[in-house]
Amino acid sequence: MKFYNINNPSERVSLKQAVLRSLSGSSGLYLPEQIPVLPHSFFRNLRSQDLKETAFAVSEVMLGDDIPAETLEGIIDQTFTFPIPLKQLKQNLYVLELFHGPTLAFKDVGARFMSGLFSWLVKGEDKEVTILTATSGDTGSAVASAFFGKSGIKVVILYPSGKVSEIQEKQLTTMGGNITALEVNGDFDDCQRLVKMAFVDDDLNSGLNLTSANSINFARLFPQSIYYFHAMAQLPGKMEPVAISVPSGNFGNLTAGLIAKKMGLPVDKFIASCNSNHAVTDYLSSGIYVPSKTIKTISNAMDVGNPNNFPRIAELYNKDHNDVTKDLTGYWYNDDETRSGMVELFERLGYLSDPHGAVAFLGLSEYMKRNDCTGIFIETAHPAKFLEEVESSTGVKVPVPEPLLKLKELKKQAVKIESSFSDFKEILIRRTR
Ligand SMILES: *Cc1c(COP(=O)(O)O)cnc(C)c1O
Repeated sequence: MKFYNINNPSERVSLKQAVLRSLSGSSGLYLPEQIPVLPHSFFRNLRSQDLKETAFAVSEVMLGDDIPAETLEGIIDQTFTFPIPLKQLKQNLYVLELFHGPTLAFKDVGARFMSGLFSWLVKGEDKEVTILTATSGDTGSAVASAFFGKSGIKVVILYPSGKVSEIQEKQLTTMGGNITALEVNGDFDDCQRLVKMAFVDDDLNSGLNLTSANSINFARLFPQSIYYFHAMAQLPGKMEPVAISVPSGNFGNLTAGLIAKKMGLPVDKFIASCNSNHAVTDYLSSGIYVPSKTIKTISNAMDVGNPNNFPRIAELYNKDHNDVTKDLTGYWYNDDETRSGMVELFERLGYLSDPHGAVAFLGLSEYMKRNDCTGIFIETAHPAKFLEEVESSTGVKVPVPEPLLKLKELKKQAVKIESSFSDFKEILIRRTR
């Protein structure tokens, strides 16, 4: 499979180049030349397949020309060490729980798959690779956990000071070893900007082998397509039409869903559910995309003013707004509405969700008022990751899983930096030497 730069479609690269570089020199995102369609036999057998079997079939059609089958199996084995259950809340309402991985958020899926693929790709390279990652909270922890101790790979994580939860901060600052955490005096968009600047900086690029583990990297994005198929596999009988609501920030999760749809996933509609950072839902209703400054909310992993996967979504539909809206609609909610969503979920359906899942639930409920369908919303984080917010909104004591309890005793190790590029560059050179 070749990959093309969406800003310059004549530029074609191999899987290895797309993954190791993340972005083209002109900052263009990569997409596969063609999105392969899964055969009918795959869908006939889907219900009898477990998660790993589904993962293998879906990855094989996309990556099978580039990765030997045993290697792909190994990557899948080390990725899906936890279940991804679909739970029924009432007759035609389901929640897909993506938070059963080691850092209790959905980003474990992409980060672990990427770590496996990456380790295979860099084997035998003489130069160490440095992975730069901007995080609004959960990416950093998932990437730190997935890449910790991997040889030949250093990880540098940038996170916005004071804008991630205490648990998230502990998860990304306490690993040590090949993981460095930079605490940036700024917001998530500042972190993302610094990472993007590093990629186009000649000094850094000639000195370091830089890449990204954000969802701009196809190796992180693509494996997220797998669980949409696994969700369908768990639905009982014929349930069409199906709508899936995705709580969205950088839109990696949703882009993976749209790719799955192009691969044949029988989903009628995707719903982009956002918080007060709603550039994309505005685009869906108006056809005009205007990135904006980030607004801080209680669903902080979605606090993104200029989502970095939006250009991929536009590209998947040839930038035709009308076509985009056939597959995708969207709604957004402020913090008060999000809190009410958590309360409603708990009181009416007995389900304790985190703020991100509540936003997805609200979007789905709004859609289902007008559309008769089976609805699935995605719960992206364990409620204990957003403990204070969940407890104060619902009045319910959240049970804290063991791995999070242990974090409390660990000591934060972060390097504080300003949001200027020169500061960042100097530290990066020092830290990766
Ligand atoms: C990252 C994240 C999101 C947003 O996912 P995107 O792929 O960036 O749209 C939603 N919820 C949680 C808990 C997250 O960590």
